[in-house]
Amino acid sequence: MLEWSRVEEPLFRPPAEADSLILQVDRGCPYNRCSFCGMYAGVPFRRLKPPEVAALLARAGRPDARRVFLADGDVLRRPFAELAAILKLLGERLPGLARVNLYATGTAIAGKSDAELRALRELKLRTLYLGLESGDEAALKSMRKAESAGLMVREAVRAQACGLHLSVMVLLGLGGKERSAEHARATAAALNRMQPRLLSALRVIPVPGTELQREIRAGRFAELSEYQAVQELRALLAGLELSRTVFRANHASNVVPLEGSLPKDQARLLAELDALLESGRLDRDSPGPAPLWL
Ligand code: SF4
Repeated sequence: MLEWSRVEEPLFRPPAEADSLILQVDRGCPYNRCSFCGMYAGVPFRRLKPPEVAALLARAGRPDARRVFLADGDVLRRPFAELAAILKLLGERLPGLARVNLYATGTAIAGKSDAELRALRELKLRTLYLGLESGDEAALKSMRKAESAGLMVREAVRAQACGLHLSVMVLLGLGGKERSAEHARATAAALNRMQPRLLSALRVIPVPGTELQREIRAGRFAELSEYQAVQELRALLAGLELSRTVFRANHASNVVPLEGSLPKDQARLLAELDALLESGRLDRDSPGPAPLWL
């Protein structure tokens, strides 16, 4: 039997959770079939049983923790009673606990009723990190994303109405050259309906071993050049009508780091992108250098 006393690699968590107590109550992703994703390749999905979660928490040795992030891939997919029991345990053992955050999918939200989402909120569940990736249904389908954009928008709106916060991730370049304009347009439209608190725009990277990388090598998916990736980000940003969102495009995959509050900083961010597009510094023929983490 695995020893769950420590973090098992690979461990992924959002940058904003750097100071949180990370509890790896699941291992891997229950879906694990998105073509662009190599996060949990070869990791058999497993959920810790309640006594294992209690032991993990005891061994973490952080009774003063105020923020907890529950890993791995889609912890909200746990049956309501199990997740509620974990949150109750955290509340009992961590007296200063303020909030618990986790990754979630549209399917996982859809599996909880309004009453269950509100009950989880009462137990200090706060931010759901949701990978929308694109609002373009054709791009999502070709990448074997489990959910449609329509479902993710509907469930995101419902989760927020139940008091949860939403941090949404989108992937620049997910439609390739062929669907870049539609990807930008439909993604902005989906985000406008979602109105997330936090929005992160990352750039899709062909991770070794993924279906996406095989498609690129076979000539069936044309990656955006560096210039086109910035053009697509500009089109996305120009289409956003968000009333209160912190926007970040400062992941290692992004061509340049950008950050601001929307709508306040929208004009500044667009001007920065225009200056970059006019600078002549962007590669128009290739995606540019791969990020250092590859
Ligand atoms: S993108 Fe998310 S849902 Fe898709 S395989 Fe990766 S972790 Fe699982």
